[in-house]
This record gives sequence, C-alpha cells and structure tokens, in this order.
Amino acid sequence: MNEAVDFRNTEVAFAAKSNSELLKARFLFELLRNKRLVSLGNGFIQWALAIGLPVEWLIKATVFKHFCGGITLDSCTPLVDKLEETGVRAILDYSVEGQNTDNQFDKNVLLIKEEIENASKSKNIAFAVFKPTSIGRLEDFHAASQQKDFTSESFEAIKKRYAIIGETADALNQPIMIDAEESWMQTAADELAFNLMRKFNTDKVLIYNTFQLYLADRLVKLTDYTLRAKEEGFKLGAKLVRGAYMEKERARAKQMGYVSPICETKEATDALYDKAVEFVFEHTDTVGVFIGTHNEKSTLKAARLAMEHYQTLNHPNVWFGQLQGMSDQITYNMAEANARVAKLIPYGPVKEVLPYLIRRAEENTSIAGQTGRELSLLRKEMNRRKRATTVQNR
Ligand SMILES: Cc1cc2nc3c(=O)[nH]c(=O)nc-3n(C[C@H](O)[C@H](O)[C@H](O)COP(=O)(O)OP(=O)(O)OC[C@H]3O[C@@H](n4cnc5c(N)ncnc54)[C@H](O)[C@@H]3O)c2cc1C
Repeated sequence: MNEAVDFRNTEVAFAAKSNSELLKARFLFELLRNKRLVSLGNGFIQWALAIGLPVEWLIKATVFKHFCGGITLDSCTPLVDKLEETGVRAILDYSVEGQNTDNQFDKNVLLIKEEIENASKSKNIAFAVFKPTSIGRLEDFHAASQQKDFTSESFEAIKKRYAIIGETADALNQPIMIDAEESWMQTAADELAFNLMRKFNTDKVLIYNTFQLYLADRLVKLTDYTLRAKEEGFKLGAKLVRGAYMEKERARAKQMGYVSPICETKEATDALYDKAVEFVFEHTDTVGVFIGTHNEKSTLKAARLAMEHYQTLNHPNVWFGQLQGMSDQITYNMAEANARVAKLIPYGPVKEVLPYLIRRAEENTSIAGQTGRELSLLRKEMNRRKRATTVQNR
C-alpha cells in the first residue's frame, strides 16, 4: 500500500481530544468493560425512565455525550466542524427508534428531508441516513418480506415515503444510506432500497443499502443484487457491516424454533465480511462501497484492495466509517492516510436514542478485545502526553 496507515499512532487518533476528554473516555470504557454492571445499568435506566425518575442527566453526561452528537441537528454542528479540521466527514443520524404511528413516520420523513438538505449544504457531511423503521412499522416490513407483491394501505404509505426521500436526495445530489435492521423485515426493506437505486443510481452511487454480513445468506444476497444491478445498468451502493442485532436474532430464533440466520461463529462472520469486501472490489464497475467497521484487519484489507483497484484511498466510490465514540485509531489514521472516512453521529432526544445507546454499551461489553483495545490506546496516548509534557518542562 502506498498510502500507509498506522492504527497504533495515538497522537493522530486522539489529536481532537483534550486531556479531560481522554480521561472521561477512559472512565467510560472501564465501566463498559464490566458486563454485570452494564447489564444492571441498562435494566436500572430503563426502569427508572419508565417510572419517571430523573436519570436523563446521568445518561446525557456519560454514554450520550460519548456516543452522540446532540439532541437536535443544529446541536451537532460543533462536532461536525471539529471533525472537518482533521479531514474526517460526518454522517448525522436521527437515531430515534420504536415509533409506531403514521403521524410520527410522516414527521420523520420531514426530518430526514431536513437532514438531506442540511447535508447537501455542508461540505463536511458526507451522507444523510435513515432507518426503515423510522418511516414504517416493523410489522409491515415483516409482512411484506414474507409475501412477494404484498400490498396494504400502510405498506403503500411506506413506499411513498421512500419515494419522497429518494427524490429529495436526487434533487439535491446528496448521497444517502439506508440502515439494516432485524432480518425478518429486511427482504422488503432491501427491495425498496433496490428500487430507489434502480431509479436514482443510474450514473453515480447516490443510494446505499446496508448488508449485514453476520447473516449467513448475505454474500449470496450481495452477489444477486450486484448482478441484477449490472444487468439492468445501474450502480449498487453497498454499506458492509457485520451487524448489531445478534443477541436479539438468536433469542427470537430460539424462542420460535427456527435455525438462527446468524453465522455460527465470529470467525464465520469475519470470513463472510472479508469475502464481501473482496467481492465488491472485484465489481468496481457496478458497486460503490462503504466499509462500516471497527475491525482493523477488515479495514486494512479494504484499504489494500482500494489501492490495488483505484490506486488511491480517496475515491468517491470507496468510503470507510466508524461510529462516533468508537475506534478513533481507525478513523483519524485513515483520514491521515488520505482515505474518505466518516463518523456516524447519532442524535435525538436522550430517551429516544436509548435503544441505540444500549446496543453500543452491550456491543462494547460483548466484543472480545474491543473495549480492551480502546482502553489500551487511550492509556497509551495519556502516557505519551505525560512524557511529552515532562520533556517540555525539563
Ligand atoms: C458506519 C456504520 C454504520 C453501521 N450501520 C449498521 C446498520 O445499518 N445495521 C446494523 O445492524 N449495524 C450497523 N452498524 C453496526 C455494526 O453492525 C457493529 O458496529 C458491528 O457489528 C461491530 O462489528 P465490527 O465490524 O465493527 O467489528 P468486530 O468487533 O470485528 O465484530 C463484532 C461483530 O461480529 C459479529 N459477531 C460477534 N460474535 C459473533 C459470533 N459468536 N457469531 C457470529 N457473529 C459474531 C457481530 O456482528 C458483532 O457485532 C454500523 C456500523 C458502522 C461503523
């Protein structure tokens, strides 16, 4: 690789963080390392919020501050500006979940339109993003996933909302990403995303859909969609992630007595992810890719293949991204190596981004090595700064 990436460079990784921010991050990851504490904490917070205890300030000062950009779109601006100084782009994500009425879905479409407009005006916001269930009921996606040509009044309303979002993105030439959620609603969500691509990805990659490679059938799906896009003459936007709903997927499969769709082991998920990375770089004529991962090996593999196929990390069809508050060593060192890299920054009212925060807490507790790695890098940078100050004061 010509454009070298060194994930152990903590000076670059944490340049944007003050000493007190490093200290707070270390404290948070030390707490997250304790599985029992995270489990008790999640239970307590949900119970306390349900009975109206004033715990929002506690969430806001800890996990929310670390993993989110703010409550409103505007309140994320200082963070977006700060990222720009280091060549990192932003993706602002209104991460409200669990809404269920048409009124809320229609309001969310307006918010997503606002996000697209905001992104199109800011040169440092790379993508707008939305979750399928922020504009339609999971049950409707599920029903439509089970039956080809399914139709119902509420599913037709979902289709209209997708169309409004696609048309707004197209009119403003603003790329958008569509998140992936539970496997049992994904077939319908995939088809809706694919239909938008068919219409709007004719000469460039404007719409990206998400492929969760922890699903054992996802490489086949990715292959199928790529070949269909190639045949029909448009581009496929593919965000590759491992997937964030593993426990929920396994629990449902067990409870309902079907074989879990998740790969049996982490190694199998890793192998599938890496095969998907290889696949998309073998189809650069059709696929634009967003590598959404905190995995250093997968990132390096994709970076190597990008150099091989595009001779640069700075190509409009190759993006890398991490979640706000995670794996700064990848984000900032990739930016330093000239890659197109973005932080996905969730925002929204504290209570409503809670499911997202719980997933992050659980993920950081359950991923073997992830929290340990965050901690050791934070400690390394704190020691480096201490040594630098001592030398300066001599
Ligand atoms: C920019 C961005 C966008 C994202 N968008 C989405 C999205 O739309 N939908 C979504 O679901 N997630 C999304 N994610 C979240 C992502 O799925 C998790 O952050 C990711 O799964 C963590 O994996 P990793 O690749 O970062 O790294 P790793 O730490 O290498 O992998 C951890 C992941 O491996 C898988 N895994 C762990 N143990 C096992 C096991 N025993 N068997 C099988 N598999 C296992 C799980 O998916 C687990 O999360 C996004 C992440 C990023 C960075």
